[in-house]
Amino acid sequence: MWHPYGALPAAAPSLPVVSAEGVRLRLADGRELIDGMASWWCAIHGYRHPALDAAARKQLGRMAHVMFGGLTHEPAIRLAERLCELAPAGLERVFFADSGSVSVEVAIKLCLQYQHARGRMERTRLLTVRGGYHGDTAGAMAVCDPVSGMHSLFAGVLAQHVFAERPPDGFDAGLDERWAAEVSELAQARAGELAGVILEPVVQGAGGMRFHSPACVAHMRSVCDEHEMLLVLDEIATGFGRSGAMFAAEHAGVSPDVMCVGKALTGGYMTLAATLCTAEVAEVVSSGEGGGLMHGPTFMANPLACAVSLASLDILADGEWERQLAHIETELRDGLEPARSLDGVREVRVLGAIGVVEMEQDLDVSAATSAAVDAGVWLRPFRNLIYAMPPYVTGGEDLALLTAAMIAAASARS
Ligand SMILES: *Cc1c(COP(=O)(O)O)cnc(C)c1O
Repeated sequence: MWHPYGALPAAAPSLPVVSAEGVRLRLADGRELIDGMASWWCAIHGYRHPALDAAARKQLGRMAHVMFGGLTHEPAIRLAERLCELAPAGLERVFFADSGSVSVEVAIKLCLQYQHARGRMERTRLLTVRGGYHGDTAGAMAVCDPVSGMHSLFAGVLAQHVFAERPPDGFDAGLDERWAAEVSELAQARAGELAGVILEPVVQGAGGMRFHSPACVAHMRSVCDEHEMLLVLDEIATGFGRSGAMFAAEHAGVSPDVMCVGKALTGGYMTLAATLCTAEVAEVVSSGEGGGLMHGPTFMANPLACAVSLASLDILADGEWERQLAHIETELRDGLEPARSLDGVREVRVLGAIGVVEMEQDLDVSAATSAAVDAGVWLRPFRNLIYAMPPYVTGGEDLALLTAAMIAAASARS
């Protein structure tokens, strides 16, 4: 059996999990680990949340699934409405996809079909920045960082897009004029072939766990407006509060034309994603040659996933998440402070419920992972990065254990 990005046979055995509750995973040997990853950033309310469990059970009593072609159902209708209310202004149309990568494929198709419908057949590329991550399907891969995304392995097969430099580091950095000018020049030079821009706003996730200024996102908005390109914001990692705002685009006061959400949408219960767009984008695409958006996953708008998502949004609606995020941010900053003086640590950075220890050199990942597990915490370091994205319900003592485990991982030597 393959595991993510794995070889067969696997280099190291995976840890068997038998159950989970709150912020803890229970292993087959009885050990309990605090989940510092929130199951790849999804389980924001923790495991076995009573309201999410109840929503799933209630929906199971009605139907687990029904096809979305020609049929519709209340969980999808209500979820689409709720997402539009919550999303940045202007996003009023929703396509439900079955994973984040698929929502990115749909976003790319929206850009291409939009330009096609307006008679600009030659606008078939996207502009993006280096250091990004947008998923593993072929279309999404083509807009990931060409180096960390292993484009060389798939040379000649992936769509060719246009890459600008990575936005300069630092949430508080302000707009770097040199970077902004480079992006503007690139867009100007290639505008005739560009359908849109795709960007992870403020936080680059799996591409390197970096933060950039919201002003960079605002700059991309103005570049898109100037050259009649669509702005796609990939909020799959940042959506639903992770960066301290409900959507990271809010830090920049920017509304995209298209937005992808996924990961935490269901509170981590199952797979569901959505691509939101403006009424204008939907109207233009629908008036085009295809007569509609050319996508339709088998499990589109799965009712069980929609019902659990609604329950997750209900939990977020009371606003408690903002206090939780502020608390986690403070605890991560304080708890990771000692990491700054450790040998081999290049930088420590925190934004919202994201804590990162970046090392000078690539880690011995299995030694770092074992050190965290020995300290009672599940982490999945990669390359030269040890990071945590815990569930929002992680309490003070558990956050102290979490940061101590990150420091143990950063100190681990093979
Ligand atoms: C995880 C992620 C994706 C891909 O989502 P999947 O559900 O794994 O397909 C896309 N974009 C970003 C920013 C992500 O973090």
